[in-house]
Amino acid sequence: MSLADDISTCRLCAGQFAATATHHAPRPVVWFRPSARILIAGQAPGARVHESGWPFTDPSGDRLRAWLGLDEATFYDRDRIAIVPMGFCFPGYDARGADIPPPLICRETWHDRVMAELGDLDLIVPVGLHAIRYHTGHRGSLTEAVQGWRAHAPRLFPLPHPSWRNTAWLKKNPWFEAELLPELRTRIRDLL
Ligand code: SF4
Repeated sequence: MSLADDISTCRLCAGQFAATATHHAPRPVVWFRPSARILIAGQAPGARVHESGWPFTDPSGDRLRAWLGLDEATFYDRDRIAIVPMGFCFPGYDARGADIPPPLICRETWHDRVMAELGDLDLIVPVGLHAIRYHTGHRGSLTEAVQGWRAHAPRLFPLPHPSWRNTAWLKKNPWFEAELLPELRTRIRDLL
């Protein structure tokens, strides 16, 4: 069985998810093949992705594809682009309806093995602070991490999460769309 198959059958968080307000079962969204040279490293599936079984099938995905300059066919070409979130399953909502962060056990169990299988990538795009921390070791704020993008380019571009919750952040930081995104799109075009 491949590593992707092993992750697909993982049920380590079954008890934890059953105890959330959503009472759901694990459904890992696994989207990588060893041939991929570009990695999109997300946070965790949301409720819509939990239903579809495909990563980023939601408004966040539409915004992310626009940021990257990718159509759906290219974005979902697993042979070229791996999409690996810090938690492979929807973590659920807490009693107040807030998103629960990706379970730490997922990263501890799977991520080093996934990264070893993907090998020497041409481009890593961590999306959101959890993924940025794993892929860069950054310990400060999201804004500091994204503002420091030139220190990692052209092999890594840290992004905020494309959720509507970050629309105010985007307005406050216009350099992100004016400076970082054009460089990232050029890099992706060159690689594809
Ligand atoms: S979140 Fe990760 S560790 Fe937990 S059940 Fe899903 S695949 Fe397994």
